[in-house]
Amino acid sequence: MFGMRPPKKSDSTRYYQLLGISPGAEGNEIKKAYRKMAMMNHPDKGGDPEKFKEISQAYDVLSDPEKKQIYDEYGEDALKEGMGGGGGGNVNPFDIFESFFGGGGGGGGRRGGGRRKGEDVAHPLKLTLEDLYKGTTKKLSLSRNVICVKCKGAGTKSGVGPVRCNVCQGTGVKVSIRQIGPGMVQQMQSVCPDCRGQGVTVSDKDKCQECKGNKVTNQKKVLEVVVEKGMQHGQKITFPGEADEAPDTVPGAIIFVIQMKDHATFVRKGSDLFLEKTITLREALCGFQSVITHLDGRQLVISQEAGEVVTPGSYKVINDEGMPERGRPFDKGRMFIHFTVKFPQSGDMDDGMIKALQAALPAPPPLDVAMDECEECTLHSVDMEEESRRSRHRPGATDDDDDEDGPQRVQCAQQ
Ligand SMILES: [Zn+2]
Ligand SMILES: [Zn+2]
Repeated sequence: MFGMRPPKKSDSTRYYQLLGISPGAEGNEIKKAYRKMAMMNHPDKGGDPEKFKEISQAYDVLSDPEKKQIYDEYGEDALKEGMGGGGGGNVNPFDIFESFFGGGGGGGGRRGGGRRKGEDVAHPLKLTLEDLYKGTTKKLSLSRNVICVKCKGAGTKSGVGPVRCNVCQGTGVKVSIRQIGPGMVQQMQSVCPDCRGQGVTVSDKDKCQECKGNKVTNQKKVLEVVVEKGMQHGQKITFPGEADEAPDTVPGAIIFVIQMKDHATFVRKGSDLFLEKTITLREALCGFQSVITHLDGRQLVISQEAGEVVTPGSYKVINDEGMPERGRPFDKGRMFIHFTVKFPQSGDMDDGMIKALQAALPAPPPLDVAMDECEECTLHSVDMEEESRRSRHRPGATDDDDDEDGPQRVQCAQQ
């Protein structure tokens, strides 16, 4: 019985109710209703954000002929299916509000009243650790589209606006509807290939010569990017409204994303700096003095007194010589020094040196075994890196195989 049921048509009046109009209302009536309801329920004016969101969603659907048709015919659920993301909740109510009321200023008397939000453009900004330590200003030249001065963005000589694109009926969007199941349609949207999303086209003879009918021309612009002390890899510096201009569009932002280059001496972790330092065995045992050149060129002298032993692989730290904190440049992190101790090579020491060391250093305890009952073994040199390379490439081993999880994997395979 259930299988015989005709496709369920979900409610298709709620959006009209939300805007306070009767089902089937068209064009201007919908616009007027949205204007009234959105102003009344805007969260900035104390309205309920949920209600505001629903009103915007209702307008988003009813103002779009294709969406409206689906809604009238199949109801809300069909649209949610078709629009994909998050059950129809993928509409930003503030974007709709701004595009309707021409947010961003100066959008007042524009044709159709709708201004789209242009895309933000991200550029990587490569900086050295020195740049981020000291702070810097970079001048970057970018080319961007600006509204054509000659035709003021009309794209035509006559100044008469271009004609509506026949392919997309002026919407700039190519919509295809696909039945994906009983009562369910999927709506696919793509930019109209004929007018490149503009919704209008220009005849060849009437094209503005300056911009070739494109409405925009290319312009070079130099942006001054101020990099503050202590900024981090991945941090963004934003220039709102500096991305490409286009008619009826609020230009997006140019966003510079900081990419920190590797440094020869220091590794940065947050506001701390890490430094590798190799000292000799003598320095490790008898103390030393050494110079570190900091990122701002200052020479830091570090010293370890005789009698303070530095063991291989140990760390020492200098307070307040790390990276500055962003916005608080006098607060600095720490500088960690990681010590490698360089031992003498076999054969480096002659008998005299060995005797002197033996006299200076404490003797090991004698062996507590009967030598004639033991077996003597020879110690050979071994290169452990070479060993692990060889075991990785043994027959049957895979590339990501390592010594630890190798045997476990074999066990799993046998189960
Ligand atoms: Zn032009
Ligand atoms: Zn078109």
